[in-house]
Amino acid sequence: MKILVSACLLGLNTRYDGKNLKNITVIEYLQKNNIVFYPLCAEQLGGLPTPREPSEIENGLSSKDILKGKGKVVSKSGKNVTNNFINGAYLVLDFCKRFGITHAILQDDSPSCGFRKISDGTFTHNKIKGVGILTQLLKDNGIVIIDNLL
Ligand code: SF4
Repeated sequence: MKILVSACLLGLNTRYDGKNLKNITVIEYLQKNNIVFYPLCAEQLGGLPTPREPSEIENGLSSKDILKGKGKVVSKSGKNVTNNFINGAYLVLDFCKRFGITHAILQDDSPSCGFRKISDGTFTHNKIKGVGILTQLLKDNGIVIIDNLL
């Protein structure tokens, strides 16, 4: 099994705030099971800088809507970063297809990688049930999200 992993979970400083969310449980799981893994960050691959402003999917919309071209992803100051998010997600998907990656371990609560919850688009730290744009695209293409480690 080959696994895509959100880069920030492995200690890479790819988050919008220039920090990471290194997760020992994930690292030990990968090491103990001798898994081939690939750390990637869809937002960086989409051309966004690090650090960067936080961004959220517009209030009332889902990642499915964004992937269908309905609505926007906006940064806190109101910049439209939709194309960065979509392009980054498709680059990650392309990488997964090329390298035969079948599973993913992702960082929750992210407009790209969230798999249980995302922010509600109001930049008030309010969370709603939902998945990020990368997560939606991976699921739509048959990649299994490993969601029991986090
Ligand atoms: S896009 Fe994903 S990998 Fe990149 S910093 Fe956000 S949660 Fe981590």
